[in-house]
Amino acid sequence: MHPEVDLTKAADQCVMCGMCLPHCPTYQVSQHEAESPRGRISLIKAFSEGQLTASKALETHLQSCTGCMKCQQVCPANVPYQNIIDHGRSLYRKKLKRSSRLLQKMSILVLTHQWGHQLLALSSVVVKYLPLKNKAIRLLKLITPRSKFETASDNQQSITILPGCTGALFDQQTLTSIVKILTRLKINANTPSKVMCCGALAQHSGHLQQAEQQVATITDYLSQHKTTEFVSFASGCGRQLNDHVADSRHKHSDIISWLANSTKINSLNFESLTQQILVHMPCTLKDKERNNVIGLLNLIPNIRLLEFNDGISCCGAGGMQLISPEDSNRALIDCKIDTIRTLQPDVIVSSNIGCSLSLQLGLQDAGLDINVIHPVTLLAQQLKH
Ligand code: SF4
Ligand code: SF4
Repeated sequence: MHPEVDLTKAADQCVMCGMCLPHCPTYQVSQHEAESPRGRISLIKAFSEGQLTASKALETHLQSCTGCMKCQQVCPANVPYQNIIDHGRSLYRKKLKRSSRLLQKMSILVLTHQWGHQLLALSSVVVKYLPLKNKAIRLLKLITPRSKFETASDNQQSITILPGCTGALFDQQTLTSIVKILTRLKINANTPSKVMCCGALAQHSGHLQQAEQQVATITDYLSQHKTTEFVSFASGCGRQLNDHVADSRHKHSDIISWLANSTKINSLNFESLTQQILVHMPCTLKDKERNNVIGLLNLIPNIRLLEFNDGISCCGAGGMQLISPEDSNRALIDCKIDTIRTLQPDVIVSSNIGCSLSLQLGLQDAGLDINVIHPVTLLAQQLKH
């Protein structure tokens, strides 16, 4: 999954042309070279060669990269940016104080394991009524209780849904909505009984071995259950699953694309909706998937769709932001909140739980009471009885 990388060789592929700069969200809002792909590549190269020592500033520049991969997509020299940032972070992590390393590792373990979710669910009950402003406490308050569902056993078709660690913890609403739609389509939904993480969180924090183990757990599960087709519903997990798990034996789709490509979806009828829906397109969605989001939402009669028009491609939630106590990408979420304030939508839809959580926290800070839900949840809400 993560072949050893010669960081000097990989970084030397960068010809410093700067073509990636206008596409990088952190550079767009800061205009700071160290916040650009080219700048981060130079910093990582210098650090790996011992010309630069660990510092708070270096840590911030590595951490603020959202992993949107816009830079890699436009780079004419095919610089392997994903490998460079993953291995750069892994190298930097080894220089952190033991206590910081332990804290980061514990955060990932808690978020990606069953026992951790039980612990967090318990804590969320305790903190529910506390007026604490701390980011971790505010996230605890957004945990959703585990939903139980059963689908009819006489359905001929079944599909496996992988909610991922963050989806299982914070987005049971979307899981329930997917099951509702699948049930209407006479399709059984299966989900693993234990929490399984796609490895993205560990990978983006430089815990590459841990990420590999998590990918192996999913692959083993799919093989043991003879799963030939599975879906996910967070586009961040979807990208990771496409890159590291899906193969000819285990076909993966994001639920949006799966539904959009299913002929059965046209058999469903939806209630009309006259609200203004602001569609957030996570940077982890491919162009085709973006079209699928719009196509599915347009199945709802009279729906009015708005799009973010601020020219910034990312909300800043990616990478390590969820488990980081610092808000190094505050400017990016502030930009999205400004747009929301101008457009005044009734509801926001986003197909990545990381982005949804970031938007929800930003809306709370701004005192705006607007729901952020998954596009599939909106579809399920509008299903005609
Ligand atoms: S586009 Fe590629 S080669 Fe050009 S500066 Fe960016 S990373 Fe380097
Ligand atoms: S992955 Fe995204 S945020 Fe990170 S350097 Fe590339 S364009 Fe910028």
